[in-house]
Amino acid sequence: MSNVTQLSPGAWQISHPFLGEHEVIGSYLLEGRNELAVIDPGPGSMVESLFASIREAGYDPEDLTHILATHVHLDHAGATGTLVRQLPGAHVYVHSQGAPHLLDTTKVIASASRIFGDRMELLWGEIASTPQERLHVIEGGDILNVAGRRLEVHYTPGHAVHHVIFFDAHSGELFAGDTAGVRLPGVDYVRPPTPPPDLDLEAWSDSIDLIKSLRPDVLYIGHFGAVKNIPEHFERLREKLYSWGEFVLGAMRDGKEEAEIITMLIEHTRPELLQAARDPHALERYEIATNYPMTVQGYMRYWSKKHPERL
Ligand SMILES: [Zn+2]
Repeated sequence: MSNVTQLSPGAWQISHPFLGEHEVIGSYLLEGRNELAVIDPGPGSMVESLFASIREAGYDPEDLTHILATHVHLDHAGATGTLVRQLPGAHVYVHSQGAPHLLDTTKVIASASRIFGDRMELLWGEIASTPQERLHVIEGGDILNVAGRRLEVHYTPGHAVHHVIFFDAHSGELFAGDTAGVRLPGVDYVRPPTPPPDLDLEAWSDSIDLIKSLRPDVLYIGHFGAVKNIPEHFERLREKLYSWGEFVLGAMRDGKEEAEIITMLIEHTRPELLQAARDPHALERYEIATNYPMTVQGYMRYWSKKHPERL
């Protein structure tokens, strides 16, 4: 199975065989005017597969000029520091609020270690820091002229406080990161990825409205691939974001503990995913893209910090 799919002139989708699963975690490759850019390079554990995919697309990873991060979560940008060390021509572009976490990965490693424990190396590989001189801070409203394209940067907090999307208004292609949720190929189901610590439902809903107002023709999402039924997709995401949130809030108000709420949310939502997928393996695939423990932790922190009045 090829891990590389051409999407349009100068644009490829890359699938990382993460934990042996294809089309769960993705990167996007852009080429033009002697520039080679990757949007969301993926986890540090997938650097070799990223390089193989770039070669398969017909390019030399050594020629990588730009690394664009929609946000700094490890499944999207964990490989950044390793790539920068290996590729002298590569420069990194990340939102100002995400930049400190690439500049110094100590905190990211510490918080991820608390969650993933002895699976850290297997899942994420090396999580190296990026030197300041290779790091370029971006903000919503910026324009990046990259690989022959004019990419608009739009600030889309909600999933992460430093999340941005990249929009090519000329082609109508929008690189959405996790702002457009998780929808795996072959499964007609949109799942909300709601990890701690930044989850903000109001901000996310505003980010959805912002993306819709851009009227993109296609969304390229991190997990995974192209989405074309955009208004419907976003309304399903928004509905799930809030309905799962209300479910977790209800359990919190009933005095349930985190572990109990995780079990309750799985029982509450598994039937709808199974119905959409008609394949129990889809549950595992969705769980790799966004897992229930982090989903519940994100909502619990959101309600406690942002809406204590509702508890
Ligand atoms: Zn994320």
